[in-house]
Amino acid sequence: MSASVRLKELLHENTMVSAPELAVPGPGGRVTCLACGHRCTILPGRSGVCRVRFNVNGELRAPGGYVAGVQIDPIEKKPFFHAFPARDALSFGMLGCDLHCGYCQNWVTSQALRDDEAVTRPNFVSPERVVELALEHRVPVMVSTYNEPLITADWAVEIFKLAKAAGIVCGFISNGNATPQVLEFIRPWVDLYKVDLKSFDDKSYRKLGGVLQNVLDTIRLLKQMDFWVEIVTLVVPGFNDGDDELAQIAGFLADISCDIPWHVTAFHPDYKMTDPPRTPVETLLRAYELGRTAGLRYVYPGNIAGGVGSRESTHCPTCDRTLIKRRGFCVEDNRMKGGACPHCGTAIPGVWEKDPPSKTLGWGIPLPITVIEQPCG
Ligand code: SF4
Repeated sequence: MSASVRLKELLHENTMVSAPELAVPGPGGRVTCLACGHRCTILPGRSGVCRVRFNVNGELRAPGGYVAGVQIDPIEKKPFFHAFPARDALSFGMLGCDLHCGYCQNWVTSQALRDDEAVTRPNFVSPERVVELALEHRVPVMVSTYNEPLITADWAVEIFKLAKAAGIVCGFISNGNATPQVLEFIRPWVDLYKVDLKSFDDKSYRKLGGVLQNVLDTIRLLKQMDFWVEIVTLVVPGFNDGDDELAQIAGFLADISCDIPWHVTAFHPDYKMTDPPRTPVETLLRAYELGRTAGLRYVYPGNIAGGVGSRESTHCPTCDRTLIKRRGFCVEDNRMKGGACPHCGTAIPGVWEKDPPSKTLGWGIPLPITVIEQPCG
């Protein structure tokens, strides 16, 4: 018996009934799953494209009761640059994905049910224990990441309900292949949402197992629903690094809001995509310029710590002073005052603590937050 089959059997013993909002019954025991943009119609005894949601006698089962990884690390690593700067986030993940990107950096968890080389054992745990961990480490943020959180949204919501009641702000680190129904389902509990916009070419998206339009629709809807949204494009040489494509991505985002932070990050060979070289700094700087030319106010070249000058810092769009000085995932200085530039008073969009953490005040207690957006122009 292969490792992925054994793992599948183990996971099938640890599931929960899908949230009814994400399972539409059909004739002959079929169920249509709305947890991601694939919208699989699943016959009894079969599973969906993600292989972690499956139909048992007309009932859609979803993953529950375990995590495949838990870690506490800087929120800048997610990356969120406009939410709780310099704070830690508790990150947890499960197993499986609805896409199969050849360059996935989390393939050991995301491809666990497709690839026998991806060996990860689940750790069985209660939602209460995950939230206790966050409280013990006094983190203000918790995110579902490492695998695609949409396909395990039911379990994330079980955890986030308790986390939110404890004053913790919750987020998804996602490929954006969502449906309106799953976004409605998570919205009461999720405030931060990072989307990987991997390309602006539908043919490229289909090679990864996705559909470009689903992701574009998700980004528009997330903004309409007032999630705090940051976008990442991993710039892969020969895949999505052309001027036209990067400019199209930037133009699409700027058309929604000039205040959406756009992270253009460096690729390194991983998993099945080992031919393209690492992304050169010059390519990231080109993407940065294209983003700024499109009107985006906050463009951050990333994954090359210290290699892009002050561009990985946040600057005031009015007076250009440095507000949050970063080097890689490290915040070296945070001069923001109540979500605004301390020099000229320009409001900076994001989710900020009224009093940023300091060594004298301590790092633990989540404080009230403000979310501010500016008109484009
Ligand atoms: S989460 Fe997506 S891939 Fe998985 S069963 Fe549901 S619609 Fe299909």
